[in-house]
Amino acid sequence: MDIFSSLDVITLLRLMFLADVVVIMLLLGYGSGGSHAGVFRAFIAARSLHAVACLMIGFGVGRPTFWGMLVPTAMVFFGHAIEGATIAFLRRDRILGKHLPFGVAAIGSLLLVVATQVGPSMVGVASGTLCLIAIYICAALIIPPERSRLVWMMFAIFAAHGAAQFLRSYIGFAHSATINDRHWMQVLGLVTSYVYCVGGGVGFLLLLKEEADRELRRDATTDSLTGLLNHRAFFTAARQRLDGLPMEASLSLLSIDLDHFKLVNDTYGHPAGDEVLRQVGARLAAHSDEDCVVGRVGGEEFAMLFAGGAAAACEKAEQLRQSVTTVRLAEFPDHRCTASIGVATVEGHRSETIHALVRRCDHALYKAKSDGRNRVVLTAAENGAPSIDRTAAAA
Ligand code: GH3
Ligand code: MG
Ligand code: MG
Repeated sequence: MDIFSSLDVITLLRLMFLADVVVIMLLLGYGSGGSHAGVFRAFIAARSLHAVACLMIGFGVGRPTFWGMLVPTAMVFFGHAIEGATIAFLRRDRILGKHLPFGVAAIGSLLLVVATQVGPSMVGVASGTLCLIAIYICAALIIPPERSRLVWMMFAIFAAHGAAQFLRSYIGFAHSATINDRHWMQVLGLVTSYVYCVGGGVGFLLLLKEEADRELRRDATTDSLTGLLNHRAFFTAARQRLDGLPMEASLSLLSIDLDHFKLVNDTYGHPAGDEVLRQVGARLAAHSDEDCVVGRVGGEEFAMLFAGGAAAACEKAEQLRQSVTTVRLAEFPDHRCTASIGVATVEGHRSETIHALVRRCDHALYKAKSDGRNRVVLTAAENGAPSIDRTAAAA
């Protein structure tokens, strides 16, 4: 423990100020936080508060307790509270609430005032408060569902910080330690605060970057009108499903094309057409489960891939066909929407490429169109050649 005891607390606080300045400069260099500009600004405010507080304590030795300790320590509390709230926001917290750390910071500040008058130890109160805020941040970090490696690393930093603050609080209360004591528990508390300053700042930046990457990926794979997978994402997922299909399992593809959709645009206008597409997308989403891959693969063409053989696929297709007929436009109540659906199935012990499956499915769809639309047609491969098996449902 000699390593820690040889470190000077005031020097550590001055170093923390420098670390804060570097983190703030890196954040400002990163930009404006993109779609998280508010959180970004709040984090910079938190770090600025922390930096000024470290400056006041680290360079204000000999000042009266009020400006030298009480005010800056309360600033540290609120800096940590803001930082905790920003992390909870980025983690989409719906459980902990953003106000909790501010409540802890406010109570900690009041206790500090009490501590300056009648005890207990200021170090004990300060570290105890920081320990509680660190626990809040740890809880915010492990909120499901996405817990990346980065999130777990940040959790480790804040957990170590919280544990060290707990020890420092203990020596504050049990041994009435002051800020100038070089007890290893106190210095350890400040060393982890330093790691928190650097690691927490860089971690926050990376968390923002991770979030931005996730948004980019989502935009690149999602159809903005319906929220379903777009063409590329659908076929990528479908190819993966087909490649990983166990020997005995069956998989079905539905190709869903709205009937005479051009007429909708021509008669009611493009925005009405978009509304129909949105409603159809919502119906497809409502009929799909986690196991289903569903996408908008063309203008008014949708596709759905799911586990199951021909019978289940025809049943599902018929449900969808009926569901599409319930689409209504509030402004044009006379409009009726119908869809033609092609069905193709890969039964167990057969292998087929996604292209071949789509070709068979499209063949069934063309048949549904030429037979009069608003119907489901199933096709199956025989000797590699496409063949229509049966018309499952008609108008
Ligand atoms: P069919 O029954 O043979 O499928 O006839 P259809 O009119 O549905 O097919 P066609 O391919 O002739 O027309 C498709 C129309 O879909 C043409 C295009 O204007 C429209 N469309 C494509 N994308 C969008 C979109 O994003 N919004 C709107 N409103 N219309 C779209
Ligand atoms: Mg079409
Ligand atoms: Mg069409």
